[in-house]
Amino acid sequence: MIRSNSLLLCALLLTMFQAAMCQVDLKSVDQVWDHYERYKETVITNRFLKHSDVVSLINKHTASGLFISEEIGQSVRGRSINHLTIGTGKTKVLLWSQMHGDESTATMALFDLFNFLAADDEHNDLRKLILGNLELHIVPMLNPDGAQQWKRRNDIEIDVNRDARMLVTPEGRALMSLAKKIQPEIGFNLHDQSTLYAAGRNENTATISFLAPAYDYPKSMNEVRKRATQLILTMNKALQTKVPGKIAKYDDAFDPRCFGDTFQGMGISTILVESGGYYADPEKQFIRKLNFYALLNAFVSIAEKTYASQKLADYQAIPENSRSLYDVLVRNVSINKEGIQFRTNLGIVRSQIKGPDSGSMSYNGRIEELGDVELTHGYDEIEASGLTFTPGNIKLMRKREWEALSPQQELDLIRTGYLFVKWTDGTSPSGPLNGRLLNLTNKKNNTIQTASIGQQAQFLLSRDGKPVYALLNGYVLDLTKDVTTVPNVFGY
Ligand SMILES: [Zn+2]
Repeated sequence: MIRSNSLLLCALLLTMFQAAMCQVDLKSVDQVWDHYERYKETVITNRFLKHSDVVSLINKHTASGLFISEEIGQSVRGRSINHLTIGTGKTKVLLWSQMHGDESTATMALFDLFNFLAADDEHNDLRKLILGNLELHIVPMLNPDGAQQWKRRNDIEIDVNRDARMLVTPEGRALMSLAKKIQPEIGFNLHDQSTLYAAGRNENTATISFLAPAYDYPKSMNEVRKRATQLILTMNKALQTKVPGKIAKYDDAFDPRCFGDTFQGMGISTILVESGGYYADPEKQFIRKLNFYALLNAFVSIAEKTYASQKLADYQAIPENSRSLYDVLVRNVSINKEGIQFRTNLGIVRSQIKGPDSGSMSYNGRIEELGDVELTHGYDEIEASGLTFTPGNIKLMRKREWEALSPQQELDLIRTGYLFVKWTDGTSPSGPLNGRLLNLTNKKNNTIQTASIGQQAQFLLSRDGKPVYALLNGYVLDLTKDVTTVPNVFGY
């Protein structure tokens, strides 16, 4: 009797101890969030990192002796595809990023995670927990040729994530043979999606979207897919504390061409992570931090198997990914089109233009929608009741006068109705123009006279003939405020 009582007491104490341990761990992941700047890989300052950056960072980490690195294949253009291993635990976890070359947010986060795992500080308990329970296998930048040119597909123009069955790409073959060799329990398929997705039909951006891909057409649920779903619920719960409402789930239609769907069918609990958009984060540096945090939470949950307590029914509560955002939405603007007066809404989207060596980005703002925009939203919105769509004027001046214009002088010209400068003594360049507010043009008249679909978003919004907002290449300038900058305007 006494014996069984003390056993009971032991069991009770152990349960309490484990519960306490869990609490400590979850809290400490949040402390790591607070200390993120310590681990952020400072070599990576924007999303256009290339294969050479990845290789030199891998060399740094293998030199420390903590990581083992091997080449598992080469891209079409002969760039190495590298597989790093860290941890001695029982549960094998495979993560790969950037199988689409222009989707690098998770690659940046993986190097932040490597720095965290390699550090030696007050978070050693957390490291020990992860590395003692997990064997992490990581392929950062599966499609280095795509990254080099900042494009989705590989260099024989195949989408690597539609190549899981045919395996005609060396990148896809490298991933498949690695997965077959390691046979991980869990896989993380790390991507980026358009910034124009919302989390449900509301103004919340889909900053991170998840999917536990189906492994058959009826979208059946088995233990493998269930575990992936529970891990999503774990990450969702953590992320909601940082970006409430901004997490979505992807459509789960089965596509056997995709690696996630195929791996799920092979018994690897696979989770698709899509980094989307966040206000004023075009380089996705905050979303990089969210990736870091979500993956760290997942690792802890895998180590402690706490994900198993998540209820599948809660997955329904995650809103659906919905392509219903614009960069700018102008509501209720008055337009005069060839004498026809009407009031409507304008949706503006800024498309991306690759800079030299695919190492930077310029933007080209265009009008994408005119009309009823029910249940759509904008990163920036202007309530334009009482405002009129007004074309901008062209200011004539000499090249040297234009060169001497200060930002304040440019703003003052915009306030009096100008959006363009035409040089009177030469031909001005065309294309993206940095560090300016006024556009350049070689035309005699402003060709943008009224709002139409596909047209450049270069116009003024006026009240009683006085401009109050300028739309400069799809960027909003509030003319009642102090001078500011926009990423780029244009030469036409
Ligand atoms: Zn992708």
